[in-house]
Amino acid sequence: MAGSFVTVACPDCENEQTLFGKAASEVACAVCGHTLARPTGGKAAIEGEVTAVVEAR
Ligand SMILES: [Zn+2]
Repeated sequence: MAGSFVTVACPDCENEQTLFGKAASEVACAVCGHTLARPTGGKAAIEGEVTAVVEAR
């Protein structure tokens, strides 16, 4: 699975945001600033509910 994007629902404000599944830096919610993903060296640790996975084309 080479690089996919995930849509994550923020647990705090329910904003849905699409981010890279292997984010190399911390990704914060654009609305409330809650951390949605943290880099782990490989696959990002997603904090929140993944509502969709979009494969890169
Ligand atoms: Zn939020």
